Amino acid sequence: MKPLDPRLLRRARAARAFLVASVVIGVASGALIVVQAVLLARGIAGVVLHGADVTGVVWALAAVVAGRAALLWLQEVVAQRAAAAVKSTLRRQVLEHALKLGPVWLSGERSSALTTLLTKGLDDLDPYFARYLPQLVLAATVPAGVVGWMATGDLIAAGTVLVTLPLIPIFMALIGWATQAHSRRRQRALGVLAHHFTDVVTGLPTLKLFGRAKAQEDAVRRVTDRHRVASMSSLRVAFLSSFALELLASISVALVAVGVGLRLINGHLGLETALMVLILAPEAYLPLRQVGMQFHASADGVAASEEVFRVLETPLPERGARIDVPDLRTNTLQLYDVTVRYPGRAEPALEGFDLEVRPGEVVALTGASGAGKSTVLSVLLGFVAPERGVVVVGGSAADEFEPTEWRRQFAWVPQRPGLRMGTVADNVRLGRPAASDDEVRLALLAAGASELELDKAVGERGQLLSGGQQRRVALARALVTDAPVLLLDEPTAGLDAEAEAAVVAGLRATGRTVLMVAHRPALIAAADRAVVVGSRELVSV
Ligand code: ADP
Ligand code: MG
Repeated sequence: MKPLDPRLLRRARAARAFLVASVVIGVASGALIVVQAVLLARGIAGVVLHGADVTGVVWALAAVVAGRAALLWLQEVVAQRAAAAVKSTLRRQVLEHALKLGPVWLSGERSSALTTLLTKGLDDLDPYFARYLPQLVLAATVPAGVVGWMATGDLIAAGTVLVTLPLIPIFMALIGWATQAHSRRRQRALGVLAHHFTDVVTGLPTLKLFGRAKAQEDAVRRVTDRHRVASMSSLRVAFLSSFALELLASISVALVAVGVGLRLINGHLGLETALMVLILAPEAYLPLRQVGMQFHASADGVAASEEVFRVLETPLPERGARIDVPDLRTNTLQLYDVTVRYPGRAEPALEGFDLEVRPGEVVALTGASGAGKSTVLSVLLGFVAPERGVVVVGGSAADEFEPTEWRRQFAWVPQRPGLRMGTVADNVRLGRPAASDDEVRLALLAAGASELELDKAVGERGQLLSGGQQRRVALARALVTDAPVLLLDEPTAGLDAEAEAAVVAGLRATGRTVLMVAHRPALIAAADRAVVVGSRELVSV
């Protein structure tokens, strides 16, 4: 973990502005600390040595204290603003990048991990900005200013501080190094324990059903015991390490104090200078010690930002920039020898696949589950880049075209309908926002969903509709577009035979090119021809 991730500064302008503001505030704080020490020393020395009137000094001191308070307030305000701005920038960038990476990259557990990262995960950046970064800047500015000022009064004391100061980061690094393996082991143990605990709790109804719930009591007790031991041991390490640093700083200050005291007695040093040095000495060590503490407090946020950069640095598939996509109303769509392998999979999902779809044709894709039918549609939509082979239209390869322009040629009904909160009409209009009520109604009719009212709410992810209704709304959403090619992934799963017949008739009536993944004989029979996806062995089983 680096003290300051340069990628954060590069990606988020607010972070750069914040760092500059923090440096300004840090320098001002350092100056005020020095002024405060000088005023204190002058006031005390004045009273002790010649009983002088120190009202002026007291007022000045009050002003300095007020100034330091104002700087703290300013730092906090700036930090909260910066944190909010950076979080929103990173959220937007990650969302945009994830959208460009496409649904295949997003599929499965990735999307839930991404949701956690973009909500709770990034919120962990707050302590990083509000506590850690300002402290890091103070640790860089305050000791330098303090030692520099000390040197003007007492070179030997400044030298002592200069020699002992690096011991603090060195010891911090040593402690961190020694406890790293330990804390990593603990992190892993905690992860395992959390999973185990969730497993046991979610499994309780089943266990109860089979009369095994009692036995789990012991398991839960054992798990929580191990959790307690692990937490206590990490707390012990934390206390011990902060104790060690505290001790080190105290000894260093004592060293300075002994030297100053001796020189004061010998008459080499005036009282005012000696007091100033003594007051300043602890201030030199404080920011360094605190930066270590804040470093741990912000570890979660740093981990989240690393995760963000891992997403942002995932390379986008290379696509062209041509926008003169040939019209698929008149051009044939061809796939030659297409092979697709998903990352982390040894077996190709699709191997040496050829296909030709002429304008106006209705083609059914059949084959066993997992044969690669949905993958064919993903290749056509440009969601996955084939490892070998090409998609050709009008003599040009598909990857020469700008993705958004290319996708205008297609309307896609995915395997999961993917409806949004809103009404039926809202969801259909995702296909074409300008569609009139009549056009929406017509699309619903063609999709066999004429029983659905336009203003019926679909609920979250379409939950207020039945599975079959969700599919038909998704189909209507594809039909309402003016895309020349419809890509339908099992469009009639969950429909009864009658509804299916209506849908097929509706598809035919549009006169558009249709490529559909089909399982049921009625749907396959309704197509002009059927193409089998996958190896022969797979199909024959
Ligand atoms: P079908 O639609 O014919 O059932 P798919 O095209 O969905 O098959 O999947 C073909 C193969 O590719 C399957 O073995 C599946 O497990 C795998 N696969 C599909 N999507 C992904 C993905 N995003 N990541 C990894 N493997 C995938
Ligand atoms: Mg599929």
